Amino acid sequence: MNNDAKHIKTKKKLKIIGLIVLIIGLCCTVAGFVNFGISIAKGEMPKLFFLLIIGLPCAGIGGMLTAAGFRKEIMTYTAKESAPAVNIMGQSVAPGISAIAAAAKAADPSPVICPECGESNTAGSNFCKKCGKQLVKKCPDCGNIVGSGSGFCSNCGKKLD
Ligand SMILES: [Zn+2]
Ligand SMILES: [Zn+2]
Repeated sequence: MNNDAKHIKTKKKLKIIGLIVLIIGLCCTVAGFVNFGISIAKGEMPKLFFLLIIGLPCAGIGGMLTAAGFRKEIMTYTAKESAPAVNIMGQSVAPGISAIAAAAKAADPSPVICPECGESNTAGSNFCKKCGKQLVKKCPDCGNIVGSGSGFCSNCGKKLD
């Protein structure tokens, strides 16, 4: 018998034993619990209280054995179940991140580089803060403000000198 077959057989045994122990444990727990409740209600000593003491660990051990036997199934199930959740989370988070990135970009527009001295001037600057060169020019046709290095108006397409 090779290892795989042995492993599968062991797992099968684990599942069966685990389930039996789990069921017995649960039955004992339930019986003990019911007896405990009835006895308390009647004001008697719960005679089957020991069932609870036996049943709870049995259910625990049985549950653990069953879980070990069904580990592959549980893992597969968990993987299948959690993957869409992660995707949904990713899909709902991604637009938020893009929005934040876009907002950050909008709040910090690219600086205007002076064509004369290379100084980085804040966006919207009309003159270079270092050398005083005019950084923008007005289109004579439409009045659009364009960078001083632009050859054509970005609004109407007029050639600028
Ligand atoms: Zn400059
Ligand atoms: Zn223009």
